[in-house]
Amino acid sequence: MKKVLITGASRGIGRACAEEFARGGWQVYVNCARSVELLREVAESIPGCIALPFDVSDRGAVYDAIGGMELDCLINNAGKALFSPFDAVTPEQEKELYGTDLFGVLNCTRAVLPSMIRRRTGVIINIASMWGETGASCEVDYSAAKGAVIAFTKALAKEVGPSGVRVVCISPGAVDTDMNSRLTVREYEELVDSVPLERMGLPEDIASAAAFLASERASYITGSVIDVNGGLI
Ligand code: NAP
Repeated sequence: MKKVLITGASRGIGRACAEEFARGGWQVYVNCARSVELLREVAESIPGCIALPFDVSDRGAVYDAIGGMELDCLINNAGKALFSPFDAVTPEQEKELYGTDLFGVLNCTRAVLPSMIRRRTGVIINIASMWGETGASCEVDYSAAKGAVIAFTKALAKEVGPSGVRVVCISPGAVDTDMNSRLTVREYEELVDSVPLERMGLPEDIASAAAFLASERASYITGSVIDVNGGLI
């Protein structure tokens, strides 16, 4: 049975990925840092699913939990948003944002990559954001972190392609999850109006793209950034 670890899977996109991969016959490992009770409920609702709580920004904790783990797919999905004018962001907020959205990706990848290279198999799927491609006002650090994840995907794909490991990126648009709960009704409606397909993305839209990218049907795709945004950019 193929094994997948999904970070940030207590809710939203990560949870939808866990359910999609389990339906596809994968052994699923789910992670989050804070909502551990919720994570256990997710794991209990999916046959055979195992909860692995740790903070992706804590390199030591990542290695203790998954160092050397033999995975067929890692989905670096854990992320935080930060809405603030750039000059009002505190050093603590910045550390938490980059720690999760950028260093979390590096930490988890480093922990499992050697075993993928040794076995000459594996897929790393990074969840970035359209803001990492276009930039967003009042989300400068978030955009910068996601842009770095996109560059990381392209560079690592070149480095480990000869070792049989694929590295790809999904760049979601606006997805209906807790991450967008700060939007007012009016902001939400304006956002939907700006999407050519006239709806918010669903976590399942991202999960089905991830399942495709992890499959043999995507065996010639690496270093790619797949936009899943309803035509928004
Ligand atoms: P969400 O509903 O807020 O879920 C975020 C998940 O990440 C939660 O499970 C959270 O659990 C976990 N997490 C946060 N910090 C963590 C840490 N340090 N270590 C481990 N887990 C951590 O967000 P979402 O919308 O599903 O977002 C998932 C990914 O998609 C993120 O990378 C996000 O940037 C990206 N994305 C989302 C949208 C959107 O519109 N929703 C658009 C583009 C990209 P705990 O807080 O309990 O630890």
